[in-house]
Amino acid sequence: MRNVICACCVKCGREYEAKPDLTNCECGGILDIVYDYDYIKTVFHKEDLSKRPYDMWRYRELLPVEADTPAPPLRVGWSPLYEAERLAKQLGLKKLWIKDDGVNPTASLKDRASAMAVAKAREAGARVIACSSTGNAASSLAGNAAAAGLETYIFVPSRAPKGKVAQLMTFGATVISVQGSYEDTFELSKQAIERWGWYNRNAAINPYLSEGKKTVGLEIMEQLNWQVPDYIAISVGDGCTIAGLWKGLKDLYAIGFIDRLPKLISAQAAGCCPINRAVETGEPWQPMEENTLADSIAVGVPRNADKAIAAIRESGGLTVEVTDEEIMAAQKLLGRSCGVFGEPAGVTGTAGLKKLCQQGRIPADAAVVSVVTGNGLKDVANAIKACGEPISVPSDMDRLLAAFSEREIPLR
Ligand SMILES: *Cc1c(COP(=O)(O)O)cnc(C)c1O
Ligand SMILES: [Zn+2]
Repeated sequence: MRNVICACCVKCGREYEAKPDLTNCECGGILDIVYDYDYIKTVFHKEDLSKRPYDMWRYRELLPVEADTPAPPLRVGWSPLYEAERLAKQLGLKKLWIKDDGVNPTASLKDRASAMAVAKAREAGARVIACSSTGNAASSLAGNAAAAGLETYIFVPSRAPKGKVAQLMTFGATVISVQGSYEDTFELSKQAIERWGWYNRNAAINPYLSEGKKTVGLEIMEQLNWQVPDYIAISVGDGCTIAGLWKGLKDLYAIGFIDRLPKLISAQAAGCCPINRAVETGEPWQPMEENTLADSIAVGVPRNADKAIAAIRESGGLTVEVTDEEIMAAQKLLGRSCGVFGEPAGVTGTAGLKKLCQQGRIPADAAVVSVVTGNGLKDVANAIKACGEPISVPSDMDRLLAAFSEREIPLR
């Protein structure tokens, strides 16, 4: 990889050769991929992008893959960025865009990391990939690996929503539902991966995965024609996504594609917010209970807290915690104002943004991007609970009229 210098431990600074099967540093720290920006500047220009396919691999010069590694089969990335004028007005913002990453092939942002895992597993010559996940990393790995003809072993906590487990089973993964928390699930997967030598898709262990996730940031900037917004809001669990987003933005800054950096908004559930709490108190992070219906970000022991906390601080960002009620209200708000249906964790960034606007912590002339990280069809049970029942009538016009007048529905 001519564009990559090495992998460097974020804790102790030790450097490693960027082999495809890298895991954590010997000290336990997480590795970060280090690029040769001077070289990249000479071979990568904005104009090059006009001829390329619209997927995450259009930014190859900024990705840690060999030049001849094929892009995995599923089309990941280039999700739409919608300008949300009505929602902006409701929140009192000048400009707001919604990046809908729920339209990826397995319906979450995790596809960006899983596609990278498949590319790197192929470079490593592996035939089996394994991971533990709150759900979406699992279903996206299973789908992306199935398309590439690779086998998967997947560990999920028993609370994972049925929509996600159905995806896993359909994609042919060997699924282990662990009776316990995400932490328990992660530990068992770690032992099994060590024992059988599978390729490791645990995002906070394999340093390549946040490099896949960073493509969401690269796309946002290209879709905004390199005009930098003031804030980007996103939900946070393990912390890999927000850290990846930040890495992508810094990459673009380093090669001169953008001239400043936005501030990050880190949104967590009030019932599980160890990363935000650490940023707010300045203390080291402490484990928390996983007390929220936003299952994808119910991470009591975050695996990438160091990188995430550094990203929020470096950006001069904001933290915000939202209740489950606020999350479900944001799900409806996005649905009604934008036609975007996100899963609870998927809309937590927007819920956080709304709260910050109400608290007056975002200036009214700000331009903001809010990332929806997963599709609402992943977790229909919670959506149905929050939205109530439809009008139920027999096939009879009089009964329909009666039902409308009972509910005082204005007919025009
Ligand atoms: C995984 C996930 C997140 C959070 O990503 P982390 O890397 O765990 O912080 C947010 N939303 C959805 C839908 C996810 O699947
Ligand atoms: Zn180290």
